[in-house]
Amino acid sequence: MSSSHSHHHDHHDHDHDHAHPHSPPAPDDDDQYDRYEVLLQTAIRELLDEKGIITADALHRQIDYQDSLTPAIGGKIVAKAWLDPVFKKKLLADPLKTINESFELDITTPLDLVVLENTPTVHNVVVCTLCSCYPRMLLGIPPAWYKSIDYRSRVVVEPRKVLAEFGTHLPDDVEVRVSDSTADLRFLVLPYQPAGTEGFSEAELAALVTRDSMIGTSLPLSAASTPALA
Ligand code: FE
Repeated sequence: MSSSHSHHHDHHDHDHDHAHPHSPPAPDDDDQYDRYEVLLQTAIRELLDEKGIITADALHRQIDYQDSLTPAIGGKIVAKAWLDPVFKKKLLADPLKTINESFELDITTPLDLVVLENTPTVHNVVVCTLCSCYPRMLLGIPPAWYKSIDYRSRVVVEPRKVLAEFGTHLPDDVEVRVSDSTADLRFLVLPYQPAGTEGFSEAELAALVTRDSMIGTSLPLSAASTPALA
């Protein structure tokens, strides 16, 4: 395992839709941590409203927007990258600009996005060891396990073992790289195109791209599992 990206983790400028405690009371207790987060969220929401910084309506609109983001966006990006080498090259060089232009999106964020390309010999996995930084602009809300102390602490130490628990068994000669997200840097894994999918349409390919394959804990679905699209 090697860590290809190690960056300063500063939490003052965070895009999370929830409050971000620097020192939660019991970081080893997920349940207590969640309760603490809920309390903190409520307190901050009420303060923002009270001080006229952001209204409850605006906050709810923002929550609706966050909820509308799903891994389907990421899946379309990955499928296009598999089909179109020119798009892939641009995607790797300048991800957000390329995504906005190609999909007529208007994702604006001060965050840097890096696309990590998997190859037959390199497999990337993403984590936020400190909290839950995640490419929400492309994948939506992170899954609960992504925020768990268990995943965050273990994937950097024993990535192959953690991947195996996700059912992802990689050959020994594949290098596993773990990238640690930060407050201003997010990662999207570009999975390696599954064998036997040559000739698949963009929609068929996108259907193979799971959320977890873009986090790197899983591989895309196999060609044989192609959902009935016809
Ligand atoms: Fe975080």
